[in-house]
Amino acid sequence: MALSFPIYLDNHATTRVDPRVLEAMLPYFTEHYGNAASRNHVFGWQAEEAVENAREQVRTLIGAKSPKEIIFTSGATESNNLAIKGVAYQYREKGNHIITVKTEHKAVLETCKRLEREGFEVSYIDVNKQGQVEPDDVRKAIRDKTILVSVMLCNNEIGTIQPIAEIGKITRERGVLFHTDAVQGLGRTFFDVEAMNVDLASFSAHKIYGPKGIGALYVRRNRPRVRLTPIIDGGGHEHGMRSGTLNVPGIVGFGKACAILKEEMHEENERLRMLRNRLREKLFSALEMIHLNGAEDPWRHPGNLHVSFSFVEGEALMMGIKEIAVSSGSACTSASLEPSHVLRALGVDPELAHSSIRFGIGRFNTLEEIDYVAEAVIREVNRLREMSPLYELYKEGIDYRTIQWISH
Ligand SMILES: *Cc1c(COP(=O)(O)O)cnc(C)c1O
Repeated sequence: MALSFPIYLDNHATTRVDPRVLEAMLPYFTEHYGNAASRNHVFGWQAEEAVENAREQVRTLIGAKSPKEIIFTSGATESNNLAIKGVAYQYREKGNHIITVKTEHKAVLETCKRLEREGFEVSYIDVNKQGQVEPDDVRKAIRDKTILVSVMLCNNEIGTIQPIAEIGKITRERGVLFHTDAVQGLGRTFFDVEAMNVDLASFSAHKIYGPKGIGALYVRRNRPRVRLTPIIDGGGHEHGMRSGTLNVPGIVGFGKACAILKEEMHEENERLRMLRNRLREKLFSALEMIHLNGAEDPWRHPGNLHVSFSFVEGEALMMGIKEIAVSSGSACTSASLEPSHVLRALGVDPELAHSSIRFGIGRFNTLEEIDYVAEAVIREVNRLREMSPLYELYKEGIDYRTIQWISH
């Protein structure tokens, strides 16, 4: 197959809508445009039926007991806000302490920061060098006043998968609610809300080949029944937890994306892992002084490769491979020049953090693309290193970090 450009390798940022998903959605923009809350005519009934069908598709993928436990939202940012603020406000009489992890997505961390300004106390747990939480650290952090633990299923930068089942055992034992931001892990690793004792879980359609602007929050209804204070008030949709007219085409697309994952995830993950390992082997056999960030299988997202290239600026490398869309591993918001909070939490040297690239391999990538990317990256890293005085010193056997620079 002929290559076409640009090559998209940023599938943790967002994914292309699968043509099968788009096809399922289209009628709900045109013929079936009813409001799912319209109870007294066929337009409403059709819309409602489509929504309930999608709810069932989401439920099946995550192993929930009832479709009523799926609350549709505008995406995972909203789901994380609803889960954490919803629990905090609902259970504030019971306690004011929340536990989360330093490498969480900003939608979790910034929500927690706001709650701190409102008088809640938040513990931000450390991770090990691979980015994993020690379940025992969660156990130790739980206090009498702890109402919620929030730990993501899979990290969006370095692809590390967290020991959710073990943490769920601990939170259930201690009677503390457990939320997980499951956006990146959904369909990429085993996930089951019942088996893992998860009480709340956030999802986003556009990370799984569905449309943007639609997501869901799983809210357990039984043992324990989780109650949430809503953050959006209105007509009382979604059991009063999330008011607002339902995004029917988006929900249909999200449901279809889940059904496809359920059917194809095992085969797809094998393929992603093969492509990822091929890229990794090519880069690591051709280049010296490069480092893998994150964990090894089975604790790694099958499509994630996060690499630091010593003596090379990540941004400069990206400029040299403009025909390839990747993400600089150093800045989580590309607007800021801060090294990412995730790499900082891993203890990656800030300089090395700025030399990092995240490759996010997805459903539509081909072997030819991976081979092209490997060659282009190797060529560009070598070119940039040839212009680097520090690399020159390194090759001469001088450790530049021990040099005493003289300033005038
Ligand atoms: C993308 C992402 C989000 C935000 O999801 P949106 O639907 O874009 O709001 C939250 N958490 C993780 C881990 C993500 O990767």
